[in-house]
Amino acid sequence: MKITLKGGIEKEYASGTTAYDIARDLSEGLARAACAARMDSAVVDLRQPITDDCALEILTFDDPDGRKAFRHTASHVLAQAVLRLYPGVKLAIGPSTDEGFYYDFDRDSGAFTAEEIPVIEAEIKKIIKEDPPIERFTLPRDKALELVADEPYKVELINDLPEDAEIGFYTQGGFTDLCAGPHLMNMKPLKGIKLISEAGSSGAYWRGSEKNKMLSRIYGTAFPKTSELEEYLIQREEAKKRDHNKLGRELGIFTSHEAIGQGLPLLMPKGAKIFQILTRFVEDEEERRGYVLTKTPYMAKSDLYKISGHWDLYREGMFIMGEADDPYALRPMTCPFQFTIYNAGQHSYRDLPIRYGETATLFRNESSGEMHGLIRVRQFTISEGHLVMTREQLGDEFRGVVDLANFMMKTFGIENDISYRFSMWDPDNKDKYVGEPEHWEEAQEEMEKLLNELGLDFVKAPGEAAFYGPKLDIQFRNVHGKEDTVITIQIDFALAERFGMTYTERDGSKKNPIIIHRTSIGCYERTIAMLIEKYAGAFPTWLSPTQVIVLPISDKYSDYAGEVYAKLKAKGIRAEIDNRAEKIGYKIREARNERIPYILVAGEKEAAAGTVSLRSRAGDEGEVTVEQVIERVTFETETRVNNSGS
Ligand SMILES: [Zn+2]
Ligand SMILES: [Zn+2]
Repeated sequence: MKITLKGGIEKEYASGTTAYDIARDLSEGLARAACAARMDSAVVDLRQPITDDCALEILTFDDPDGRKAFRHTASHVLAQAVLRLYPGVKLAIGPSTDEGFYYDFDRDSGAFTAEEIPVIEAEIKKIIKEDPPIERFTLPRDKALELVADEPYKVELINDLPEDAEIGFYTQGGFTDLCAGPHLMNMKPLKGIKLISEAGSSGAYWRGSEKNKMLSRIYGTAFPKTSELEEYLIQREEAKKRDHNKLGRELGIFTSHEAIGQGLPLLMPKGAKIFQILTRFVEDEEERRGYVLTKTPYMAKSDLYKISGHWDLYREGMFIMGEADDPYALRPMTCPFQFTIYNAGQHSYRDLPIRYGETATLFRNESSGEMHGLIRVRQFTISEGHLVMTREQLGDEFRGVVDLANFMMKTFGIENDISYRFSMWDPDNKDKYVGEPEHWEEAQEEMEKLLNELGLDFVKAPGEAAFYGPKLDIQFRNVHGKEDTVITIQIDFALAERFGMTYTERDGSKKNPIIIHRTSIGCYERTIAMLIEKYAGAFPTWLSPTQVIVLPISDKYSDYAGEVYAKLKAKGIRAEIDNRAEKIGYKIREARNERIPYILVAGEKEAAAGTVSLRSRAGDEGEVTVEQVIERVTFETETRVNNSGS
């Protein structure tokens, strides 16, 4: 058979040769580093015999799929170690993650404690040292069920597989686990391995649903070199310090309460101020770019969502209320509301494009296992907008929307932390989408053409489209190395027809417009989280909830400090005054911890001269006049200069 290798080189091998054999034929070094293989487009185990002509790529840890196989192998070693130490524990699942791997266990005596984690880690290292061979085998369904009869979660997983599926297992040193693979050939490469559940296991519901049993999840990570592990651990410490879920609470930006519920954070005065700064910035910029505002209800009858397709395709994700025969739902997006506004009037081609914008609060019923700080929430506010246009206007409008998004990212100083993802539909799963296949093809072709014209460096993500159209996702890579979508832009050829949206063409005929669904900064809560982590809480002046704090050295100077404070406030500067009877050194330290950009100290000398002593993020700047401070802060606010100093 003919194997096409990377770089287009073709080689002849006997049918039945495995990917591992081919790796060894290429070089011993490659075979040692090999984690899995890509056969045409499928990721396969290195053990897999190849019987037909194909393109083959040997995947190492540097390839995301190779890395997955590497870390997934590590998760099996974790499971093996746990079973050796705690016989009778039931095994759930153990996938790789972006940063490592985890395994979920069901232990009668409950969670694993902080003391048990190092014991398990030592056992993992022992097993790796023993270096048992890793073997793969398959069984027909009945035999597979027999083998896992004592493992209720595995039984459930097998029962969910298609009737004719060949069921894979991996076995190593007497430990066998149900698994589709792929796995490493042996454990030798698992050199930099560490459990990162230092505080003990965390709770995770079986299959992510709170209706199911809570399991004990142990996290770990693995690298081919111990030096890589060490580097990762240092980065992780740095990321922890910036973690918005910790820092955002410490800085008084947000809080949460069990009685209010998961995924429902409360913005405290500082967080609400940042929120207000952001919404004003976005709304004013949209106004400049020809958007018109709408303000629409937070809920609607099911009738509306039936027209939009949400009722059929997105009901699981909505909060439904009211009587069963007349249900209402909290809105998961604004589209059908803004479409209704469009339909309230007659439109001709001369009226188009119309750009609707709304700072819209939305509700999505995500499972509580997914909730996290300000990033995974059930209620959030977004700069939603829908642009209604003719086919001829699509190019200009799309470019305008991308330009607005890039302007926002640049202003936030994150233009180098983002990437573009072109999310396409999955033509093999047509029932997940509304609209005609030819419309999908046309919308996608058009979007790809526009993206290429704009010179954006994007990756394609099949199956990630919205149910009504392909989208451009702007992805932000956070301090944990994880990607979150901050902005989406969607081209929609389907919903105008469903909603009966029309306009009159030049020749008098009625036509359905094209719609772009878009956000200019995405979800405000998520944006705040992203900015906390980006700036480690030290926001640029224009975004700082408190820009200046005035600190009288003692009670004697509080009147003078009060005058300074009043001058700042009169100029619209976000100022605070700290009149507490604390030592000045303590007050300065506290203001620094709050990351306030400008600290003004007022004592005898300053009161006499009508000045203040200025401490900025750059350090002690000495005496300046209040007017100088006002000028500087006003300039930085108006120009939105990125002076975080972080
Ligand atoms: Zn596995
Ligand atoms: Zn929409």
